Amino acid sequence: MSYRHLRFPEGRPQAVTLSYDDGVKADIKLASIINKYGIKCTFNYNNFERLTKEEVIENVISHGHEIAVHGADHKAVGVVRPIDMIKDVLSCRTFLESEFNMIIRGMAYPDSGIRALMPGNTYEDIKRRLIDLDIAYARTLGNDNNSFRLPADFYAWEPTAHHKNPKMFEYIEEFLNADYSEKVYSSKRYPRLFYIWGHSFEFERDDNWELLEKICQKLSGKPNIWYATNIEIYNYVKAFNSLEYSADGKIIYNPTLYTVWFEGENGTLYSVKPGETVYLS
Ligand SMILES: [Zn+2]
Repeated sequence: MSYRHLRFPEGRPQAVTLSYDDGVKADIKLASIINKYGIKCTFNYNNFERLTKEEVIENVISHGHEIAVHGADHKAVGVVRPIDMIKDVLSCRTFLESEFNMIIRGMAYPDSGIRALMPGNTYEDIKRRLIDLDIAYARTLGNDNNSFRLPADFYAWEPTAHHKNPKMFEYIEEFLNADYSEKVYSSKRYPRLFYIWGHSFEFERDDNWELLEKICQKLSGKPNIWYATNIEIYNYVKAFNSLEYSADGKIIYNPTLYTVWFEGENGTLYSVKPGETVYLS
């Protein structure tokens, strides 16, 4: 038995992603700042009445950022009747897909999301509806933490922190100094993700755009960090989880279209190309 720790593309042990909600004008400034640093963001839209289609294409899509669902009417999925939740998610998805002519499968829960559930409306019910609506993942919030773990459940994806979390720079330091050489407890060599969320209008309102610049300066330009959108991380983890193993774990087949990277028990880095089988000694 041995560990197979996921490594992001090119063998990188860490990833950084952003998630910003509500589709407001300040998204343009946010995008222009993070673009300078090569950081990727998922922008969660209700509708984008406050942005033009051209602004979204020019500032968001053309720079490789993701567009995701945030409920056409921003309805709290745990509080509205199931049919209204379905309509809110589906109409948002179909609107965004037809507007931009692309597949949109990500989501951030609007309002209180899965943190407030009316009697009889369970998290499992909500998750089931999202699966049926072909939503791949949904971001929640309210539990900032420094575990830096990939989500065990992509329908309850907890970010690391809101950008105003007073521990932000403490968390960043801890993340950047994570030790991947641990030999005795090698489970500690797990892949780490730093996930920041918020609303771009908060930087405008709080007049603290320099906070975003400072966060980007700290996190950007690191050779061992993969800068990716939420859906890119989801798709890569899904590919990693699709690897097929012999019972002893020594023969590994990659049936996906991604080159998948992992680190073995002894710290050796492996990659398995699409369609390839590798034989570990
Ligand atoms: Zn919102």
